[in-house]
Amino acid sequence: MDNDLLEAGYRLYSGEKIDVYFNTHICQHAGNCVRGSARLFNLKRKPWIAPDEVDAQTVKTIIDTCPSGALKYRPK
Ligand code: SF4
Repeated sequence: MDNDLLEAGYRLYSGEKIDVYFNTHICQHAGNCVRGSARLFNLKRKPWIAPDEVDAQTVKTIIDTCPSGALKYRPK
């Protein structure tokens, strides 16, 4: 667990092989995440981020398109 990210206001969405962190205050609502994968990011689902729905490489690839830094990943 990355305590620095938690202290900076990120929420943890834990997966088996990779964790995802999201900070709603930093998000610019560009939508790259939900366009990248509706299985990984689904605003109608709770929790809306499900890291185990896709493989870890896909998590990285999509989060790398987030322009704001609101999404982070930490492989386990
Ligand atoms: S890609 Fe990043 S900035 Fe855009 S909506 Fe998703 S989390 Fe927010």
